[in-house]
Amino acid sequence: MLMVLAAWLSVAGNLPMWIAVWQLPESQGLKAVMTLGSLILVLYSMICWLLLLLVWPRWLKPAGIVFMMVVTSSSYFMLTYNVVIDPSMIANVVHTDAREVRDLLSWRMLVAVFFGVFLPGVWWWRQPVKAVRFKPLALRQLGLFVLAWVMMFVFVWLSFQDLASLMRNHTTLRYMANPFNSVYAVVRLSVGQASQAAKPLLPIGEDAKLLAVPDSEKDAPLIVLVVGETVRAANFGLSGYTRQTTPQLSQLKAQGDLVYFSDVSSCGTSTQTSLPCMFSHLGKTAYENSDQPYEGLLDVLQRAGLAVLWIDNQSGCKGVCDRVSKWETQALKVPELCQDGECFDEIMLQELPKQLALLDPVKRAKGTVVVMHQMGSHGPAYYKRSPQAIKQFKPECQSSALQNCPVEQIVNGYDNSVLYADHFVSQTVKWLQAQARPTALMYLSDHGESLGEKGLYLHGMPYRMAPREQTHVPMLAWLSKPMQAQRGWRMACLQSQADKPMSHDNLFHSMLGLSQVATGLSKPQLDIFAGCSAGR
Ligand SMILES: [Zn+2]
Repeated sequence: MLMVLAAWLSVAGNLPMWIAVWQLPESQGLKAVMTLGSLILVLYSMICWLLLLLVWPRWLKPAGIVFMMVVTSSSYFMLTYNVVIDPSMIANVVHTDAREVRDLLSWRMLVAVFFGVFLPGVWWWRQPVKAVRFKPLALRQLGLFVLAWVMMFVFVWLSFQDLASLMRNHTTLRYMANPFNSVYAVVRLSVGQASQAAKPLLPIGEDAKLLAVPDSEKDAPLIVLVVGETVRAANFGLSGYTRQTTPQLSQLKAQGDLVYFSDVSSCGTSTQTSLPCMFSHLGKTAYENSDQPYEGLLDVLQRAGLAVLWIDNQSGCKGVCDRVSKWETQALKVPELCQDGECFDEIMLQELPKQLALLDPVKRAKGTVVVMHQMGSHGPAYYKRSPQAIKQFKPECQSSALQNCPVEQIVNGYDNSVLYADHFVSQTVKWLQAQARPTALMYLSDHGESLGEKGLYLHGMPYRMAPREQTHVPMLAWLSKPMQAQRGWRMACLQSQADKPMSHDNLFHSMLGLSQVATGLSKPQLDIFAGCSAGR
């Protein structure tokens, strides 16, 4: 039975990989057949030894079904969105919520489950199994395990050159081998999390203090950080996109109080990887190499005495707001903004005054930092991310199975969601303008998105093979006139930095600079405001 299961998993369960190999430019005629044949044999023997080692009669049937479910779902997502399965993709799966899952469901997925799990599952479940005493069973299973191991070496040895160059030239293929991609990712992720959980959270910025304590709440700054979701720079009007998707922000820029940064790279390609990295003092490289849990930006701001609030209209803050005040929109039922358990981003602005009033007045007198985490352009149901009144680009793709739609319709839906982000951020700026105190806003997207370029959809590619569309993100800063006056910021100076290469690494230090928090942690060379105040 294990041999049959292995045959099913290696041949049917790896369709995306066989299609990808067949379509490679160097796959032609007889050579393509040879490459495919040897790959299937190698994978078959690898799956055999995995099953012979892990699957014993006691849990034979449920384990078989689990394997069918794992390879079917990973094949479905690979074929539908061209994603690959790696540890960060599994982390995304673990941290998903009901709303995200609902967006991904489609008829095609039901069909895939029917042919990939239901039909073979029924056959599998109905097979009679004869009980065998432990000793002969162990001998037989371990003997076959050794045989499969030998088979694998022979097949690899026979086609080594061919396979080695294939894996070297097409790194994505390594993440496509079912079920090893999922097994590897789960093991890797659990080992990482276990070692992180074993370590205590280290405090950072214990020396943090405010450079100047305001005399009254009227002088106390109010700073808003909008964490954008899935907005890529390529479709952002301010970055020179052929469509004007940011009309209102462009107007604010023309008034001279807003600077758009045109060359910003994200830390990761998914919310799960980017968010903790953006709020970390370590920066991308050190963050990726560390399994030590540290406090983040918001802890430092709070320790310096500021009131800190996180408002979430997404799937949570991934740990970065754990020790500050937070408020989530999920339970809200405001008819004009919320539908089916999901709200448009303006709900956060509507609730902001009420939530600010709830913060500690002693801290509020020194200043307030608010983070608003957007629903933004979260896919694949882009058409759900903008209200009817905002939509300018029609028709929109109305399906979650993106490759069923013409590219123009996918882009229309996506661009409408960017229009809505423009509307939301501009409305927030207008609200801040109306406050009689120094105010400022920063906007930064967590990662980009693929809209069908090179056959890719959505995001979450391993970073080193991710296309620029997934890592080039928009960032902007807006400072109110009272804020500019109080700190002596020179907008022209800030504007002169607008085209320098930057990244998520700049956020931590720029937010410290903007909030006037002094600590030994801060690196002025990463603070976009550092060189532009009156004294410099
Ligand atoms: Zn995201």
